[in-house]
Amino acid sequence: TSIPTSSVKDGDIKSDDDTSEEQISPAEKSLLQKIIRKGLVETTKDLEIQRKDPNSPLYSVKTFDALHLKPALLKGVYAMGFNAPSRIQETALPTLLADPPQNMIAQSQSGTGKTAAFVLAMLSRVNVTENYPQVLCLSPTYELAIQTGEVAAKMSRFCPEIKIKYAVRGEEISRGSKIAEHIIIGTPGKVLDWGQKFKFFDLSQISVFVLDEADVMIATQGHQDQCIRIHKLLPRTCQMMFFSATYEPEVMNFAEIIVSNPLIIRLLREEESLDNIKQYYIRCKNVDEKYTAITNIYGVITIGQAIIFCHTKKTASWLAGKMTKDGHAVAILSGDLTVEQRISVLDRFRAGLEKVLITTNVLARGIDVEQVTIVVNFDLPMDQKRQADCETYLHRIGRTGRFGKSGIAINLIDSDHAMQLCQNIEKHFGKKIHYLDAEDADEIE
Ligand code: ADP
Repeated sequence: TSIPTSSVKDGDIKSDDDTSEEQISPAEKSLLQKIIRKGLVETTKDLEIQRKDPNSPLYSVKTFDALHLKPALLKGVYAMGFNAPSRIQETALPTLLADPPQNMIAQSQSGTGKTAAFVLAMLSRVNVTENYPQVLCLSPTYELAIQTGEVAAKMSRFCPEIKIKYAVRGEEISRGSKIAEHIIIGTPGKVLDWGQKFKFFDLSQISVFVLDEADVMIATQGHQDQCIRIHKLLPRTCQMMFFSATYEPEVMNFAEIIVSNPLIIRLLREEESLDNIKQYYIRCKNVDEKYTAITNIYGVITIGQAIIFCHTKKTASWLAGKMTKDGHAVAILSGDLTVEQRISVLDRFRAGLEKVLITTNVLARGIDVEQVTIVVNFDLPMDQKRQADCETYLHRIGRTGRFGKSGIAINLIDSDHAMQLCQNIEKHFGKKIHYLDAEDADEIE
């Protein structure tokens, strides 16, 4: 079969190659992921643990009570709706709270409870009778620092005596003054300025140092060096906590510079599968018929929440405009939005204010949206050679582990090339993609 090099669409959306306009940084991806996450990622995997002395005791807890936290802090944990520690928290928390303090490197995918773990450790290490910064937490960006600070504020809501200061852009302090807050959460550049250049606080009095999102930190120009410079100014007795969602050699090299004699804990990622997913395809003649197909299945797809993937942002905004004009409440996540706008779009979608989210792959790749029950591929994912991108397909459609809810995937096919992609995907996974008549959406189970 010959594969056409370009598909013919209607006048609005001729070009298919404007995906390159959309860019998303690792920091932004991490942020969007946090915003859209509703709760813990559940896991069936066991922790992997490495430590220098395998004979030293290793503790794990099954309840927050067993951690002997200050009552007001424990109350804050329960008030957040946390009933029991997550898999990584079971082992991380006793180590993070141990006396004498122990260093830790922890790696697990986003959503497994790392932030909650180190925030709890940070809060419980504060000595409120001393009014100077004792705990320092580095985040790669302003937005990520704020996210962490918000978790800390929530968790410490029954401990009003614990004070937190953000060291991020926009925060200014007058020359010569000293920071009295106990916890500083900030970005590396600002923290260096405040600690080293302006001496607003004394880095040598920090007793707990958290480096969060190390993998994202590395991806940001200059951050790694700044972190290392900060680290050099910390006392040798300072407890080091190092967190990353991924485990590449660069991350581990970085970790080794920052953290001496650590306990290393890893939680492997749950694999995605198509096992609980009903897959369909709908034949359409052109993009207008694709649109008709969407409106025909609209009633079914909005029983739950749906994401519609388009190949380009042009298609995405065309589709969103048309659906909006026809009176459907849809959200669009596109590269044209500011970070704040993207956060607000995802916040609204997560809250269920819109039932349909239209987006492109560039933005949604790497973001897991568990509550989404229906995925519509307005365009099938393909790579730059216009061949089926099975990995992206799996990531859009697949669910993880045995906790994965069942779902429905609908692929809109408007050319022989698209049909070919669909068949290749079907063959690749060995899972049937069923024919669906768009006029008869009731067939969807
Ligand atoms: P990570 O830092 O690994 O991305 P988070 O600490 O942000 O993970 O946790 C992910 C989500 O799960 C957050 O919404 C958080 O409030 C929630 N969460 C964290 N720990 C628990 C817990 N023990 N029980 C219930 N929910 C939790």
